[in-house]
Amino acid sequence: MPSVPPGPGPAAAGPDSFPDPVREPVPPSGPGAPDPVRDPWRPAMRLALAEADAAARGGDVPVGAVLLGPDGAVLAAGHNEREAVHDPTAHAEVLALRRAAALRGEWRLTGCTLVVTLEPCVMCAGALVQARVDRVVYGAVDEKAGAAGSLWDLVRDRRLNHRPEVIAGVLAEECSAQLTAFFRTR
Ligand SMILES: [Zn+2]
Repeated sequence: MPSVPPGPGPAAAGPDSFPDPVREPVPPSGPGAPDPVRDPWRPAMRLALAEADAAARGGDVPVGAVLLGPDGAVLAAGHNEREAVHDPTAHAEVLALRRAAALRGEWRLTGCTLVVTLEPCVMCAGALVQARVDRVVYGAVDEKAGAAGSLWDLVRDRRLNHRPEVIAGVLAEECSAQLTAFFRTR
């Protein structure tokens, strides 16, 4: 018989002595309060915001994305180019994924993080799962078409065997303001 390791097991602990299930840390509220979950992604989101600016200059809805390698370095970037190249699939995320995969010579982007200014749509959420990215970080919530927690949660669908981590709401106000400003001029 294998020996049982010492220490409290389920039989030794009453129902009240179990630790709470893992919860997302609740950041302290108030402006300027540190947010250990989102703050580390702010510099990358600023790069994505700059990419989104390039989309707006070309007449496209400002959405920008950067793809970070396992070491955190930027592998590729992309911005929405639907109008620019007349391609319904030319979303920022898809372009960043394609460029990063081409650079790596490998379609699997395991270990990578995609940072995007707007919650991915169904197509991009599907592409992120297909690319096997480890993590998706986004800024503004897209309540009308978002597929990473809003309208759908395709990236964390338990029926799929690859489910990237999702971190939402990084620089959310700046990302939303950029989109609002664009549509105000339309
Ligand atoms: Zn998309």
